[in-house]
Amino acid sequence: MVELKQYQMLIDGEWVDAEGNRRFESMNPSTGAAWASIPDASAKDVDRAVEAAARAFSSGPWSKMTATERGRCLRRLGDLVAGQSEALGRIETIDTGKLFNETRWQAAYIAEYFHYYAGLADKVHGDTLPIDKPNLLVMTLREPLGVVAAVVPWNSQLFLTALKMGPALAAGNTVVLKASEHASAAMLEFGRLIAEAKIPPGVVNIVSGLAEPCGRTLTSHPKVARISFTGGPETARHIIRHSAENLAQVSLELGGKSPVIVFEDADIESAVNGVVAGIFGASGQSCVAGSRLYVHETIADQFLTRLTDIAAQIRIGDPLGDTTQMGPLATRSQLAKLEKEIARARAEGATVRCGGRAPPHLKDGWFFEPTIIECPSQQTAIMDTELFGPVLSVLRFRTEEEVIALANDSAYGLAAGIFTRDSARSLRMTKALRCGIVWVNTYRVVSPVAEFGGFKNSGYGRESGLQAIYDYTRVKTVWLNTSSDPMANPFVMR
Ligand code: NAD
Repeated sequence: MVELKQYQMLIDGEWVDAEGNRRFESMNPSTGAAWASIPDASAKDVDRAVEAAARAFSSGPWSKMTATERGRCLRRLGDLVAGQSEALGRIETIDTGKLFNETRWQAAYIAEYFHYYAGLADKVHGDTLPIDKPNLLVMTLREPLGVVAAVVPWNSQLFLTALKMGPALAAGNTVVLKASEHASAAMLEFGRLIAEAKIPPGVVNIVSGLAEPCGRTLTSHPKVARISFTGGPETARHIIRHSAENLAQVSLELGGKSPVIVFEDADIESAVNGVVAGIFGASGQSCVAGSRLYVHETIADQFLTRLTDIAAQIRIGDPLGDTTQMGPLATRSQLAKLEKEIARARAEGATVRCGGRAPPHLKDGWFFEPTIIECPSQQTAIMDTELFGPVLSVLRFRTEEEVIALANDSAYGLAAGIFTRDSARSLRMTKALRCGIVWVNTYRVVSPVAEFGGFKNSGYGRESGLQAIYDYTRVKTVWLNTSSDPMANPFVMR
């Protein structure tokens, strides 16, 4: 029997097992076999983590640190993550099936997020207000909120951790991170760097466990002031209900069915690369996956032939392999979902141009071929069902007005891509599209400097950029009487 790697949780600066040493297994999607044993946090474990974070916020060394000192902690953390990017990337690849080439690059790049917020820590401040009353000096202080519950899904453990932790800590909050039950290992490995970065005990706690009781207890805990959630829309609805218990502020980064629009004047090679990056990168398991393609009817045949040729040549296999281009799906249930949705699309009259099945030569693991499906109409269910896999739904269009309406005809509104050489048209389109991110002649680029988030069922609130750090603070208004005279009689109105 293979020995499973044993993980523990980080609570109040200590590495601990779950109450009663309850555990679950984490699976390697390339083999379909268990490889790690993960603590299954009880409500009591979660409570301990939140209490530790609450103490660290109100009375520990963290609460006395200057913003500049907090920035130094984040800078050290960023340097440590960059130094460990190979090791962290490897663990994330084993646990999620995401390409090692991507996870190690991503682990190195998330250092930039910690560095960005390290720099911002002492640059976010209140104001002095030009108040409409004499003899008063009025100012605002920008203060941290308290304990942040950060809940993430499985597809980008470390990246999403950095997106939430960077601004939360820079602003002076403390955090309890909840790893996904499908992939907890990378976050727990990352936890080892917290003490090394000289971040005091209790400031960052990491719990692993199931939605019930771990996720629910955390997001409804009375001492949680802010919930930062990334995951699916159904879970988001639960989270909002939980926040009725603690009235925590909530931000939601949910899924998408992002359109990529290719006009007749596009640079075809560039557009093909953009579409491939958008839907086959990370095996399509990305919230910003460009999973709906609208291609102008005059170039559609040529474009789809080129795209299908490339898709058919994508090298699927071991995500740790240097030459592999696409790894497996992260869970077995994802595979079953894709098969079901593709069968439904076929029944609705869609044509599968390539893929549409698990590759016959990869029997172990949860692999799926890059898939391109031409749909008869926008009403085909797959055109607005988030699949979270390497499946591209395609529709042809005639006019700009028509494609704007088609692109916006979605419950989601996370991202969109436009490929055209006409810059006036790209500006018109950018204004007309109802989504949080628009990429023009590029796709799937992110940066700590740029806000990230969606419209509609894709959620609300923004991560990254300046906006994110403001969202982890609140304003306190301070009124100072500058007159030496006593306060006036309150019953005499002047
Ligand atoms: P999920 O919503 O099932 O789970 C996400 C996290 O929420 C997990 O840690 C889970 O344990 C926890 N959770 C589940 N139910 C809960 C509950 N009732 N109370 C509290 N916590 C609960 O999502 P998933 O299937 O792991 O991930 C895929 C989804 O995430 C997709 O919809 C995808 O689009 C979305 N996603 C969005 C972004 C973004 O930034 N917009 C990024 C990545 C993934």
